[in-house]
Amino acid sequence: MRAFVFGLVLTLLAACASTRPAPPAAKLDSIAHDYVRLVLEIGAHEEGYIDAYYGPPELKTAAEAHPRSLADLREAADRLLVALEDMDYAALQPLEKKRRFFLMSHIASAEFRTRMIEGERVPFAQEANRMLGVAARIEPLSSYDPVLARIETLVPGRGPLAERVEAFRRRYIIPRDRLDAVMRAAIAECRARTAAHIALPEGEAFTLEFVTNQPWSGYNWFQGGAKSLIQINTDLPIFIDRAVDLGCHEGYPGHHTHHALMEQRLYRGRGWIEVSVYPLFSPSSFIAEGEGNYGVDLAFPGEERTRFEAEVLFPLAGLDPAAAPAYAALRRALKDLTLARIKIAQMYLDGEIDRPRALELSQRYRLISPERAAQDLSFMEKYRSYVINYGLGEIAVREHIERAGADPAARWAAMYELLSSPSLPSDLR
Ligand SMILES: [Zn+2]
Repeated sequence: MRAFVFGLVLTLLAACASTRPAPPAAKLDSIAHDYVRLVLEIGAHEEGYIDAYYGPPELKTAAEAHPRSLADLREAADRLLVALEDMDYAALQPLEKKRRFFLMSHIASAEFRTRMIEGERVPFAQEANRMLGVAARIEPLSSYDPVLARIETLVPGRGPLAERVEAFRRRYIIPRDRLDAVMRAAIAECRARTAAHIALPEGEAFTLEFVTNQPWSGYNWFQGGAKSLIQINTDLPIFIDRAVDLGCHEGYPGHHTHHALMEQRLYRGRGWIEVSVYPLFSPSSFIAEGEGNYGVDLAFPGEERTRFEAEVLFPLAGLDPAAAPAYAALRRALKDLTLARIKIAQMYLDGEIDRPRALELSQRYRLISPERAAQDLSFMEKYRSYVINYGLGEIAVREHIERAGADPAARWAAMYELLSSPSLPSDLR
């Protein structure tokens, strides 16, 4: 009897649903579901597009078994965009409005990515805009000449500056047999500093692996259930400062923390299925890479990083702690060359310069070895305008977080919000 009454209620509800429009939350849920399916199907056309997925496994299995053609997926994306446009904006709660923008921005990006998979190319700045939702500010390389002049005084001598810098940095290589201990100590410190301000999800953890033959230096693969696989590429020698960089960027408060908090707060907490899939070439990456890079300065403000490196990492690596301050000075100066990478990528990918010239400019304006320049060019060829996420993402995230004031607690609170909410590059402006 009870089953019968329940069945009757369901029938009545179904009748109501067919005549009345779905409430905004249900409509957003439905569109979000279709968006996840869309992205997973695009992933079936391009290896590496899906950076992470921890949603219902059957959705992925079905998407991979029967992916629609890229043209059909574009049409599906357009239909989802129209459905979002048609929603009664005024009737939405503030968080639903954010959710709607997040979906619109990611669906538009996914639509554009299907064109790129088919070989369509637009100028670098336009690509960054359509794929990542970012208006890239790209300065000419000559604007970095004063930085090079400053670095000349830090590493005086004869011969090309890039070679002198490389020779200087070679004194700070972490020996291969000490890499594991140094990386683990760095990540542990990044984690402790993050956990002091942000409640990390229960059971969160990572696995650390060393790999070769990759165009990147480090990668975080989020696996769901608050777990990550962090891979470090050992193709080229790893300098001591990369330990803290990678620990914060890939782990805490960077990618691993970001994914674990999004999973906890939005996927499990609110049932937002869209965050369970992470398309690499999407506006989310601008936020994520910016958080990863800025996370270093947030976790190690002022002189704290150099102090920690000298006291803990240098001895673990068998390096002389007394040499830490000189290296820190060079590291800070080199940081001012970060955006030169974006200009070189733009010129190279827009066909303004050829590969040998791009290699030469990378060495001259980023002060890196030929081997490192070649590795970076491979990265640019594969990831293209994605490179803007690092330098420009960091600047945007820094400005956004530091607007909270100088109080570390306020900055960490702002960082927590950014790490765990559906943010877009436009939210940072
Ligand atoms: Zn990253």
